[in-house]
Amino acid sequence: VALGFSLHGVLRMLRPGAYLYWCPGCAAAHSFDVHGISRDGHVVGWDGDVHRPSVGQPLVFPGCEHELNAGRIRYEAGCRHALAGKTVDMVPFPEP
Ligand SMILES: [Zn+2]
Repeated sequence: VALGFSLHGVLRMLRPGAYLYWCPGCAAAHSFDVHGISRDGHVVGWDGDVHRPSVGQPLVFPGCEHELNAGRIRYEAGCRHALAGKTVDMVPFPEP
């Protein structure tokens, strides 16, 4: 099921300020909110690029923690999936 609006890149817009992307480690969508505050107290910053996005803070989900940098996902070693410790290119959402 595709959520949100396609932005013709690797992101979809869930609502203004909230963006979805596909996580190949979890085989699921994750999202970030540019109005959100990270656990270390910083405002989450996105560079506005829908094709090769960067987000200024680590993104933390149950079993999955990573950074988005210029269209690549860098997974922390503690992720509970097969891509733990790896860096992969972001990919568009799978076709429904
Ligand atoms: Zn994930």
